[in-house]
Amino acid sequence: MTKIKAFAAQDAESTLGPWNLERRAPGPKDIQIEILYCGVCHSDLHQIRNEWGNSIFPMVPGHEIVGRISKIGSEVKKFKVGELAGVGCLVDSCRKCENCKEGLEQYCLNGSSPTYNGLEQDKKTPTYGGYSKMIVADQDFVLQISDKLPLQNVAPLLCAGITTYSPLRHWNVGKGHKLAVLGLGGLGHMAVKFGVSFGAEVSMLSSSPSKKDDARKLGAHKFVLTSDPEQLKAVQGSFDFIIDTVSAPHDYNEYLGLLRTNGVLVCVGAPPAPAQIYAFNLIGGRKSIAGSLIGGLPETQEMLNYCADHKIVSDVELIDIQDIHRAYDRMLKGDVKYRFVIDIATL
Ligand code: NAP
Ligand code: ZN
Ligand code: ZN
Repeated sequence: MTKIKAFAAQDAESTLGPWNLERRAPGPKDIQIEILYCGVCHSDLHQIRNEWGNSIFPMVPGHEIVGRISKIGSEVKKFKVGELAGVGCLVDSCRKCENCKEGLEQYCLNGSSPTYNGLEQDKKTPTYGGYSKMIVADQDFVLQISDKLPLQNVAPLLCAGITTYSPLRHWNVGKGHKLAVLGLGGLGHMAVKFGVSFGAEVSMLSSSPSKKDDARKLGAHKFVLTSDPEQLKAVQGSFDFIIDTVSAPHDYNEYLGLLRTNGVLVCVGAPPAPAQIYAFNLIGGRKSIAGSLIGGLPETQEMLNYCADHKIVSDVELIDIQDIHRAYDRMLKGDVKYRFVIDIATL
């Protein structure tokens, strides 16, 4: 065991602060990574405040982890000491169920092991995330990271990137499609970049008038201010897909009306309260509402390779770990441009 520095929440009410945590010594198939940067996902905030009702404390958040390999186990072939590596939202899964066998570890039928706020596959050892100096994970859950891209801008790809890439690929969103991205935050800005890269006509649907110029700079072809009924009316029945990244409760019925016949509203945002949906909003136009959770390991590597080839990265604001609460406050106000990333050297 190695004792390392981390930042943890001790319960749902208190702020995060320094905490020492023990990582296992790398086993034969493990990789040990010295963490350089960790992205700040809105899921970190939902979970440290126990908004989903499943939080385990003390909690070390962080599942957008990039760093450099400092040790490898004796059976590791794919990675070398000194290389860059990443860990996303998962550190293990059963590897035996039909979903795991298909590379859909996020939907493991026996329960995958999230990078933090979860348990290892022994179902008793808690997992701790990337607001920490170092992590040890099985090689099959470690991602190869290109040295062609700026590392701090790569970190958010491990969650915000894959969470938007995966549903766009699953529903084959591309040329000839009209895609709407609802909510311009960490996930939203990646959805715009991927949507544009895949050839779709992308409209940004935002509650923040101040984000109009940024949406254009990110590549969005159109901007719709969701608080303006006239602007919403103008796009009724016009989108093939909506990817909904909003973190707070909102009315899905309003957005189902913006879909064309056979349109799909994909929820990736995970507001902490149930929503009411009127069946008629689906029936009229054979519309669907669907969900999507991050992505499996093979697809996450595919996404990282795609980003390296197409020079796609996240737009980030680098912060010291001591500023994490200021970052959370801004995130709650929708004031993120467009992902906070922690410089772990400040820990
Ligand atoms: P974020 O950076 O905070 O962005 C969320 C955006 O939603 C905000 O920038 C804002 O955009 C909009 N928004 C926030 N509150 C709103 C409100 N009350 N009404 C309308 N719009 C509001 O968050 P994120 O990190 O992208 O995460 C977004 C959500 O996805 C979170 O719930 C997170 O837990 C979830 N998530 C899910 C997965 C998955 O696998 N499905 C993975 C990661 C994260 P505008 O200013 O443009 O309106
Ligand atoms: Zn996340
Ligand atoms: Zn499984």
